[in-house]
Amino acid sequence: MALYVYKFGGTSVGSVERIKAVAERVKKVHDQGHQLVVVVSAMSGETNRLIGLAKDIQQSPSSRELDVLVSTGEQVTMSLLSMALHDLGCPACSYTGSQVKILTDSSFTKARIRKIDDARMRKDLDSGRVVVVAGFQGVDEDNNITTLGRGGSDTTAVALAAALKADECHIYTDVDGVYTTDPRVVPNARRLDKITFEEMLEMASLGSKVLQIRSVEFAGKYNVALRVLSSFQDGPGTLITYEEDQMEQALISGIAFNRDEAKLTITGVPDLPGVAFKILGPIADANIEIDMIIQNIAGDLTTDFTFTVNRNDYPKAKEILDSICSELNAKAVTGDDKIVKVSIVGVGMRSHAGIASTMFKTLAQENINIRMISTSEIKISVVVDEKYLELAVRALHEAFDLEHKPQQR
Ligand code: ADP
Ligand code: ASP
Ligand code: MG
Repeated sequence: MALYVYKFGGTSVGSVERIKAVAERVKKVHDQGHQLVVVVSAMSGETNRLIGLAKDIQQSPSSRELDVLVSTGEQVTMSLLSMALHDLGCPACSYTGSQVKILTDSSFTKARIRKIDDARMRKDLDSGRVVVVAGFQGVDEDNNITTLGRGGSDTTAVALAAALKADECHIYTDVDGVYTTDPRVVPNARRLDKITFEEMLEMASLGSKVLQIRSVEFAGKYNVALRVLSSFQDGPGTLITYEEDQMEQALISGIAFNRDEAKLTITGVPDLPGVAFKILGPIADANIEIDMIIQNIAGDLTTDFTFTVNRNDYPKAKEILDSICSELNAKAVTGDDKIVKVSIVGVGMRSHAGIASTMFKTLAQENINIRMISTSEIKISVVVDEKYLELAVRALHEAFDLEHKPQQR
């Protein structure tokens, strides 16, 4: 007998038929004598619909109230799934995050899980019931409902798997695993049998929304056996693992991209100590996260300073820079919110030279201008104009021959 945590995303529970199909799948595993905790997302489109309602009332609603609102999406699905299981004669009981007691901090809309009480779930499991839990939500110390950020049901599932020491955590979605890149952009992208935690973490943080980044962090930290699979068809899916030596040994494992980027430049900044702090301090004070930063070498005792932020934060960041420009004796502030970031990821990069030059050559051949570059041990990211996103991803996918399985070395 094994203990599994299964998570079903929005499309997998997007209609009554889909919920019934999920119940069938769960019952089959339950009938084999296994214990199951099932985490569900809101029905597809529901979270966006709820956020839309809030925005119709108020431009910037209170984040506490927003969490009360959006957490209802998952509550609908959990009860419907539990009913569908009852209908099949499978004992089940559903719980919200606060009923389980998934304790989080109080950062509404992006709360972090602190502790999980497994007593209630254990009791149900021991008495043969399937436990259904609403994903994406928790409760803070003052009993306020919190949510874990978009895509947060993945994190609920992995955190429950860690707390319950489950044998495996399965993330069921609308693709049958993790691909070399988003198959919606590159139709001949290839499913990976395995990917390392390290690579998956990079892919997730660089924009691959197939898993929420915190779920990968959690799984890595607590060594949760994590697999991404399709809820629409059977198959092995993709295992996220530590076993680097048994990997495909590709130089590049995948390509990630992020459309939510914007860049800002402040030109002609006097090249003096403390300037970077004077620019980025007010940005940090406004709670705006910065991603890439470039400061050019000063030519004429002044320098240009460029950084990227999330596109949602662009207007606010621009306003801040405009307000400090004259105080800094800088020349001008420019910006562009029609840019994207494309990244290649792979642990194979560590031991191989020439990957960056292949990447840059490929983009040059397509006449794509690189606006910014940043590298780390296992990734290279470039910022390019938004209109080149698909072209860049497809060209790189082909240049690194990701469509074909690499030879085992
Ligand atoms: P769910 O609602 O089940 O949580 P998501 O929409 O959050 O599903 O994640 C699945 C989607 O992630 C896929 O439909 C796919 O378009 C996208 N995606 C992005 N990058 C990848 C990748 N490398 N491999 C697989 N899917 C990816
Ligand atoms: N329903 C939430 C969202 O759309 C959480 C999730 O699906 O993981 O972001
Ligand atoms: Mg998701």
